[in-house]
Amino acid sequence: TAEVRLQKFLADAGIASRRKAEEYILQGKVKVNGQVVTSLGTKINPDQDIVYYNDKKVEIKKKKIYLLLNKPENYVTTVNDQFNRPTVMNLLHSVPERVYPVGRLDYNTSGLLLLTNDGDLTYKITHPKHHIDKVYLATVKGIPSEASLNKLRRGVVIDDYKTAPAKVEMIHTSSNNATLQITIHEGRNRQVRKMCEAIGHPVIRLKRIAIGKILLGDLPVGKYRSLTPKEIDYLK
Ligand code: URA
Repeated sequence: TAEVRLQKFLADAGIASRRKAEEYILQGKVKVNGQVVTSLGTKINPDQDIVYYNDKKVEIKKKKIYLLLNKPENYVTTVNDQFNRPTVMNLLHSVPERVYPVGRLDYNTSGLLLLTNDGDLTYKITHPKHHIDKVYLATVKGIPSEASLNKLRRGVVIDDYKTAPAKVEMIHTSSNNATLQITIHEGRNRQVRKMCEAIGHPVIRLKRIAIGKILLGDLPVGKYRSLTPKEIDYLK
């Protein structure tokens, strides 16, 4: 990062106007790396130097960004892909700060993906202890019996653990397939696919439509929007 004048740094951090910041510097109220600085020409490097005003560290807060993307199939949710497949980052345009996907969706899964630069939020949504419901629409091969649906609801054994109770509704059937709405709060790797596999009805298509009260709605595939203040409040 480029160097900036100390008074500009203080103003950008919201301490005071540039003029007022100059007064504070002259009054000896500002330190850089532990040393009082009273010269108005001083430049600092915001990435390396630590500035104090009245002995309190001055932090420049990056603007927090919260985006909701309708992820298309055939995109990865990592920032870089070792196989050079398209990543969801390719779908973002003119986002002023670096953001990161919150949790993961499989390459073949579509739907609701949050992206943010707020690390606390990532923790809250992805950590199982917060029990935030994730809602999926799974189109499966064949038409599961009520007994099979009940198995899914009670929990099935995948790999070496039993899934927690899930909400499962069959919301659509055709001659060969059924669409299940499945609500889980865990987020194991490929969990929904493995759950459906476990009852003998493999997933053909998978889409996430909600995380807690945050809904995908009718956002077109590949498009994103900012979360509303209400949605952000809900997640925090
Ligand atoms: N469960 C899956 O199996 N895949 C996803 O992408 C999300 C949940």
